[in-house]
Amino acid sequence: MIPYGRQDITQTDIDAVVEVLQSDFLTQGPMVPRFEGSVAEHVGARHALAVNSATSALHIACLALGLGVGDWLWTSPVTFVASANCGLYCGAQVDFVDIDPITYNLCPKALASKLEIAEREGRLPKVLVPVHLCGQPCDMQAIHELAQRYGFKIIEDASHAIGGKYKGEFIGNCRYSDITVFSFHPVKIVTTAEGGMATTNDDQLAAQMALLRSHGITRDPSLMTHASDGPWYYQQVELGLNYRMTELQAALGVSQMTRLDNYVERRHLLARRYDEKLKDFPLVTPWQHPDGYSGLHLYVVRVQLEKVRKSHREVFEFLREQGIGVNLHYIPVHTQPYYQRLGFEVGDFPQAESYYREAISLPMFQTMTMEQQDRVIDAVKRALQS
Ligand SMILES: *Cc1c(COP(=O)(O)O)cnc(C)c1O
Repeated sequence: MIPYGRQDITQTDIDAVVEVLQSDFLTQGPMVPRFEGSVAEHVGARHALAVNSATSALHIACLALGLGVGDWLWTSPVTFVASANCGLYCGAQVDFVDIDPITYNLCPKALASKLEIAEREGRLPKVLVPVHLCGQPCDMQAIHELAQRYGFKIIEDASHAIGGKYKGEFIGNCRYSDITVFSFHPVKIVTTAEGGMATTNDDQLAAQMALLRSHGITRDPSLMTHASDGPWYYQQVELGLNYRMTELQAALGVSQMTRLDNYVERRHLLARRYDEKLKDFPLVTPWQHPDGYSGLHLYVVRVQLEKVRKSHREVFEFLREQGIGVNLHYIPVHTQPYYQRLGFEVGDFPQAESYYREAISLPMFQTMTMEQQDRVIDAVKRALQS
């Protein structure tokens, strides 16, 4: 099976992890700060906080921004459930903004009209989570302008987008947001097995997230309520969690980061080949906004069902039978049973649902060979023919 995504692990990565295993620190040593430094420097952010997943990063980002009971978090319905669940973890309510039918990202026009209504009804969101789907950046300038006007905070979910750019600058520099979150799950562009990162330029948010990822405990005298009792002393000043990344993961991350630019270039090469070879097929290939340089975590095509004799599901199953590990990103979150129980209904976000009826993620990973890609293209051709 040619998978839709796969990690690239080199001997250098393995050596880096083994070296940590033989060192004094398996956790809370020097590698985590080194990994944070390498991500902060690469994306151009003042702070980077490593955690054990992007889900954890989203959670502490929401907590640091003060999201709580009585507040609203809005996100895109076409995302992994974690982009929405982080709001519920904090006791807030979640709502969605439908996607743009061309970019598949949260639509700024739909956002503007929903905000107008929410303002009249006194239920403006406190936090918005725009998701850079497939690695393509959202229209952050428009979203940021709306944030200024309506007073909400922005957490970019850049789980798909490390190494990508918006208006010539790396995603994660937080020029248009408060916090950006990355995922290092093995299907993503850079991996630490499990892992995540939150970047920010705000010193207070960084300090708060640092506390929250480790029990709310501090050894910094300036954060304590009274003078230290002695060298053993620490204080718990917040209710935090244990979301720490291990040294093994961070060592893998440091090693992987040295290849990030090559990874994204390789993904662009593969995407251009797909674009070229699929262009006469009854498919919509991904449209790339000129303001963005996608991280290209995913390559999603939409089947033009009116031109094909098979159903979407039949095309998908045919490809799986041919050994092509296609996938579907994502089932709209508001149609999940848990969200249906919260009151969402099928039909609430028609663009997201219409995308779901046609989308297929084709294999896209940095170590995919051109021969493998040609096998995918040939199988897609046969899937759409008969
Ligand atoms: C993968 C992913 C997450 C969650 O990442 P984890 O590191 O697995 O917690 C969140 N949002 C999006 C858009 C993702 O793709």
